[in-house]
Amino acid sequence: MNTKKAGKAKANTKKKEKTYPKPSWVLDSAEEELCPDCFKVVGSRSRYQLVCLLGKAGEGMTVTELTAKLELQQPTITHHLNVLRSVDAVTSVDSGRERIYSLNREAHCFDECKIPF
Ligand SMILES: [Zn+2]
Repeated sequence: MNTKKAGKAKANTKKKEKTYPKPSWVLDSAEEELCPDCFKVVGSRSRYQLVCLLGKAGEGMTVTELTAKLELQQPTITHHLNVLRSVDAVTSVDSGRERIYSLNREAHCFDECKIPF
């Protein structure tokens, strides 16, 4: 389930990637220009909200818990979580029938592009 792809292998090939302006809903401490991966993380306000929620949750949260906090449908949340996972911003572990999502604080977007959560 936990595929570790792209991220590392790609990182040192090209430095000149396109950047994106920081969306208005992202707090000030983030870089003004975000790389494509980071833009994926916060380019949608809902995803940024997810990142903030997970950032505050010490032990990770289930989709059910996240759904209760955000005004979004469960499939939408699952979709956003999958996008976040695709750039390594969140990790997940299965626990019984639930899957628990946590923020990957080591992720490039929080470290290098300083996306606050
Ligand atoms: Zn970045």
